[in-house]
Amino acid sequence: MDTKVIPVISTRKRSSKKQRALEILVRLQRLYPDAICSLSYQTPVQLLVATILSAQCTDERVNKVTPSLFARFPDVTSLANADVAELENLVRSTGFYRNKSKNIKSACQMIVSDFGGEVPRRMEQLLLLPGVARKTANVVLAHAYGINAGVTVDTHVTRLSGRLGLTEHTDPIRIERDLMSLLPQQDWENWSIRLVYHGRTVCKARSPACDVCQLCDLCPTAFHVIQAKVSAVTDSSKKISDS
Ligand code: SF4
Repeated sequence: MDTKVIPVISTRKRSSKKQRALEILVRLQRLYPDAICSLSYQTPVQLLVATILSAQCTDERVNKVTPSLFARFPDVTSLANADVAELENLVRSTGFYRNKSKNIKSACQMIVSDFGGEVPRRMEQLLLLPGVARKTANVVLAHAYGINAGVTVDTHVTRLSGRLGLTEHTDPIRIERDLMSLLPQQDWENWSIRLVYHGRTVCKARSPACDVCQLCDLCPTAFHVIQAKVSAVTDSSKKISDS
């Protein structure tokens, strides 16, 4: 197993957290210039529904169920009037399908009754919809309307922002607040979408590939995650041999 530790470079010491965040942003833009939202959708309400379905589920899985779902219920009115049991059957494989179906139907009913059938464009209005928290609202505002109202914080953004030393928090609201203070508003969604790419391809939860990571010199935990794992293995081996 790899136990090497990279030397702490002087530029990292000098750099403020904000400077580091900006440099990471530039590199992410270079690394993933064509990054886009990986959910499939045609309209704002379809994006809203896909994002609700993506909770505790991969975008890939969501993209497998939405073609049939949107063929059967293509717009907000049909979703608001949908039979919940039928909805449940269509989205079952995304997990938590009862809650998700209930929320999708209720959210669409509210959009029809309170917002004239249009997915609202303001954060405080989106947060009134059942099943919609800041993560979903940020995705919808950014990708359906081009509005950067906040930073989308999902599991990848949470993990990588922590590893990159940009937040000490684990609560998404606090992580978002930290990131909003470090990054230019016009790049809030750019950041999230590219960090998700990096999390999926390089900085994976169980096995971050620090040896090939283009952010390595900017990352205070480079190789440390692996080291921690090695230490844990060594400790447990020692306990076994000691006992
Ligand atoms: S250096 Fe390692 S821990 Fe840091 S961002 Fe890259 S892969 Fe993740």
